[in-house]
Amino acid sequence: MRVAWERERLHLTPTSLDNGERSPRKLLRAVVARLLRPKKVSRQPGKPDHPRPLTAEERNVLSFLLGADFPGVEELREQVNVAVVDWRCPCGCASFEVSVDTKAAGPADSYEPIPVEAQSREIGPNGPFQLLLWVREGWLDGVDIVYFANEVPVEFPPLETFELPFANPQT
Ligand SMILES: [Zn+2]
Repeated sequence: MRVAWERERLHLTPTSLDNGERSPRKLLRAVVARLLRPKKVSRQPGKPDHPRPLTAEERNVLSFLLGADFPGVEELREQVNVAVVDWRCPCGCASFEVSVDTKAAGPADSYEPIPVEAQSREIGPNGPFQLLLWVREGWLDGVDIVYFANEVPVEFPPLETFELPFANPQT
């Protein structure tokens, strides 16, 4: 039930794929769904694989998004070094959440909940995709891949298929 609900709310269905232009309404719905989601729902028996270290792919996505320049980004980069993955999206997509060792890094004073994001350069066969970096109360929280096609992105698409990340709030 939860999976279906989250999947529907987070990944949405195509409405107006306006040539890859951003869709503030879809993003807003994704934001609301994420904020309403209970934190760390995967902490339950049967998930012995969490927490676990970041994979190289996850680390690359974080580095890519944190390559942008915005307030608090230095602290967030430091947090990546002491972060572990403790949640993967139950729909099977590559979205993940992390926990940061708060004794080993300092909080970031960045815009929340999504200080930086990136979008596909082109729609592509299964795209477009959006990458959202989440921060809660100063701590790195995770990365969502937002997708609109039926095909679940089990891995993050190559980062060169994304435009350079941009920081929020946008002017
Ligand atoms: Zn998912």
